[in-house]
Amino acid sequence: MPKGQCHCGAVRYEMPAETIHKAVCHCSDCRRHAGAPMVAWGLVGKDQLKIEGETKEYASSENGRRHFCPQCGTALFYTNELIFPGQIDVQIATLDDPDAIRPDAQIQVAERIGWMARLDQMPAFERYPG
Ligand SMILES: [Zn+2]
Ligand SMILES: [Zn+2]
Repeated sequence: MPKGQCHCGAVRYEMPAETIHKAVCHCSDCRRHAGAPMVAWGLVGKDQLKIEGETKEYASSENGRRHFCPQCGTALFYTNELIFPGQIDVQIATLDDPDAIRPDAQIQVAERIGWMARLDQMPAFERYPG
């Protein structure tokens, strides 16, 4: 079972490798809450996710709840009883092995940052430019 954690390690979790769906989301809510250009999600049943440690919850929309570590601020989970009843979305970039679960779609590209569509054309350096 893939394991993950927040940056400081106060919150740890274990999730099934088989997800209901897994996708990279480009919506503005994900972007603002994560402070990152996109967020990768893996949806599982709430009873399939084992969480150790306490998360804090933020209402990012009427029914959307974003769960993060109160100590280091890492965004970890998303719940929405209206669209995902009994399920929980996990930010799979926080997995110890982030390649363990590979997203198979990009969603909400209508809200994607323009330059995110052409990342492959941006010069890339193994570390920092020399
Ligand atoms: Zn933490
Ligand atoms: Zn989103």
